[in-house]
Amino acid sequence: MNYTDIIQKQYDFFNTNQTKSVSFRIGQLKKLKEIITSEESSFYDAIYGDFKKSKADTYSTELSFVYDEIDLAIQNLPSWARHKRVRPNPLTLPSNSYLVPEPLGTCLVIGAWNYPYNISLVPLIAAMAAGNTVILKPSEIPSATSALMARLINENFPAEYIHVVEGGIPETSALLEEKFDKIFFTGSTVVGRIIYEAAAKHLTPVTLEMGGKSPAIVTKDTNLKGAAKRIVFGKFLNSGQTCIAPDYVVIDEKVKDEFLQYLKAYIEKFDYSFVNGNYVQIINDRNFHRLSGLIDQQKIYFGGERDLASRFIGPTILTDVSFDDPVMKEEIFGPVLPVLTYSNLDQAIAGIKTKPKPLSCYLFTHDLAVKQKVLNEISFGGGAINHTLLHFANANLPFGGVGHSGMGSYHGRAGFDTFSHYKSVFEKPFWLEPNLVYPPNTPTKIKWLRWLTRL
Ligand code: NAD
Repeated sequence: MNYTDIIQKQYDFFNTNQTKSVSFRIGQLKKLKEIITSEESSFYDAIYGDFKKSKADTYSTELSFVYDEIDLAIQNLPSWARHKRVRPNPLTLPSNSYLVPEPLGTCLVIGAWNYPYNISLVPLIAAMAAGNTVILKPSEIPSATSALMARLINENFPAEYIHVVEGGIPETSALLEEKFDKIFFTGSTVVGRIIYEAAAKHLTPVTLEMGGKSPAIVTKDTNLKGAAKRIVFGKFLNSGQTCIAPDYVVIDEKVKDEFLQYLKAYIEKFDYSFVNGNYVQIINDRNFHRLSGLIDQQKIYFGGERDLASRFIGPTILTDVSFDDPVMKEEIFGPVLPVLTYSNLDQAIAGIKTKPKPLSCYLFTHDLAVKQKVLNEISFGGGAINHTLLHFANANLPFGGVGHSGMGSYHGRAGFDTFSHYKSVFEKPFWLEPNLVYPPNTPTKIKWLRWLTRL
């Protein structure tokens, strides 16, 4: 497999400057939307085939985001792509200073499997909006969704503009040999490191959207019932296979028992099953076995049901877990929720900070001082107070990790920025020419300089 030719074609097409026109970009985004809209049923069929994801879940967690991002980009592109004036400084007056957004060039987008449409298409949209050419490499694990995106994009767009390459490690490794102007990766921290190393050889800038162990802290003064409801929602959506799912709960020990009862009640109420479309399969046997290994039978408070044939693991709550347990060593990425307790908040924060910086953090409290303390003391990519997941749903909030959970961000305007370079430009008329900056230096000039630079 050799991708040199196709990438060269993308460089050549980029150099025709066609993608730099805002009307071209808007036209292509509209076309992408039309293709998705007219093939919406194929999107539902493919993902159901891959892991039994229902139409309702596919719309609410995948396609609605894709449509929203396209609409937002179409609506805002004229303003995003405009030159942006910045304030001049007194030393350089009269002058104009401004930023010129320009596309980075030919970009590689590598996707993860858990929300295959959302995670592949939203960065693609951002890259198109910014005026780039793109090679998209979706995850090979949900094979039907990968094949669908490849067919629809490769049949409807010229390969020199956007093109889908399907495949796994060999194909991605071959792509990584090539030089790109930007690599946007979503996936695990382990593979993120491989991507970063490969990009470094070509000095290619990267955005890495990775995972981690995202805590949910529950204090005794919150609405416990509401917290349980929102944590159950965030944890068991997509069977816990969500990068920003609350990985574990840390709760004040005084209210643990009451909270556990609410958790159980909401799991029962939300009625997670394949039959009603409220639940999805574990993506493959490998993950089924990995997750099964994380369920300590002695610590099950609720759930624990498993069926390998249908790749089903029921919502499971573990108690009496400490930060040293095996289930606390890696990102769970499945429907297993360990509940840890604390006797004072500093102890909880210290435990959380023994782990790498998480992608998300959720805090349930009504205490303003606790809110300030957690925001001040714990570093995380993004998160929510008294809810889970929904920060992802507001495209005005840049989405991304920090440290081991990622670098860079996207969604909405942040996505446009991620795939753009802002050229800084200074422009000066000839009609006023103070000799201040030109030699020879004199004490008077230095005096003026001192004064002007302090204004
Ligand atoms: P993964 O890292 O195994 O795979 C991601 C992509 O990398 C896939 O396209 C895969 O084909 C490719 N890949 C895998 N191994 C490779 C290798 N050795 N060399 C080159 N390419 C390789 O991740 P995954 O299992 O698809 O997704 C799960 C992870 O992704 C979790 O950690 C989750 O938290 C994270 N994730 C993060 C976000 C986010 O937005 N931050 C979103 C979804 C998932």
